[in-house]
Amino acid sequence: MKVLITGGAGFIGSYLAERLLKQGDEVYVLDDLSTGDLDNVRHLEDNPNFHMKVGTVLDPETLKPLIDWCDIIYHLAAAVGVNYVINNPLQSLTTNIRGTELILEMANKDKKRVLLASTSEVAGKKNGKALFSEDDDRLLGPTTVTRWIYSTSKAVDEMLGLAYWREKKLPVVIVRFFNVIGPRQSAEYGMVVPRFVKQALLGHPITVYNDGEQRRCFTDIDDAIDGLLALMAHDDTPGEIFNLGGNSETNEIAIKTLAEKVKTLTESDSPIEFVPYDKAFAKGSYEDLNYRVPDLTKITRVVGYEPSLSLDQTLRRIIEYYES
Ligand code: UDP
Repeated sequence: MKVLITGGAGFIGSYLAERLLKQGDEVYVLDDLSTGDLDNVRHLEDNPNFHMKVGTVLDPETLKPLIDWCDIIYHLAAAVGVNYVINNPLQSLTTNIRGTELILEMANKDKKRVLLASTSEVAGKKNGKALFSEDDDRLLGPTTVTRWIYSTSKAVDEMLGLAYWREKKLPVVIVRFFNVIGPRQSAEYGMVVPRFVKQALLGHPITVYNDGEQRRCFTDIDDAIDGLLALMAHDDTPGEIFNLGGNSETNEIAIKTLAEKVKTLTESDSPIEFVPYDKAFAKGSYEDLNYRVPDLTKITRVVGYEPSLSLDQTLRRIIEYYES
């Protein structure tokens, strides 16, 4: 297959490129290097089936030849990371909405299959501790809170994808990631695990926001790639939305406990520091979610996805990476 990965120099995209090359596909990566990094794909450069183009999904002239060339498209290019989105609200909206619209419009010409990366953030901040299901109601804060730009832009992407499927029969598969982690993920844009690991290894305070009782369920990057490949390959996935996450029995954790775990695994002397939200973020720009854990019933039923890597296994790999 000839595969186009937008955002392929990012964390998830670079692992996907690696796996596709391993299975014999030819891969073209398009990335504007806003949060992606050429270092993420440096090890792929010698492979004759790997091609890299630095450019933006907002430019039709860059996109067109790549979309004409490929058989299928993984559209992962997006503004990601809470810090990044809060610091770049306008660019986040434009990249995430206009970029997706252009990709879908161009893919539609020859009905090329598109996998659209979305996020658990779309559902917002549900009350209580029910697992997140694909068809849950959404619950977001006001539009004045910059954090919700990411959720809102990705919800528009999902609706664009569904509309292209329903009206034009463009095969679009929508995937909602749940806190994917692994080596190479940057600590720069807000993601909690690389931040804690880096802080612990440098002996800096580990910054737990608020009381640290908020909970997440982390997904190992290798499990995430298994899920992506299975969803892209299956006949019954177009026009559908799928949660893609980790196993809640081994990977759900309170952020405070995560800080303690990282401190223990790194044998760090770092203090754990509780930071109020309005010290960490400009006033009124951030709201947290107390609980976010996926219901994986649908993806397991349709493509047989079963995540197998525990949070402890992934944390050890991330720590090894940062140590080296
Ligand atoms: N978090 C934290 N300290 C940090 C970065 C994040 O306590 O230095 C918390 C954050 O408030 C949230 C959780 O960790 O409750 C996960 O944050 P992240 O930005 O990684 O992902 P998301 O909020 O999108 O799940």
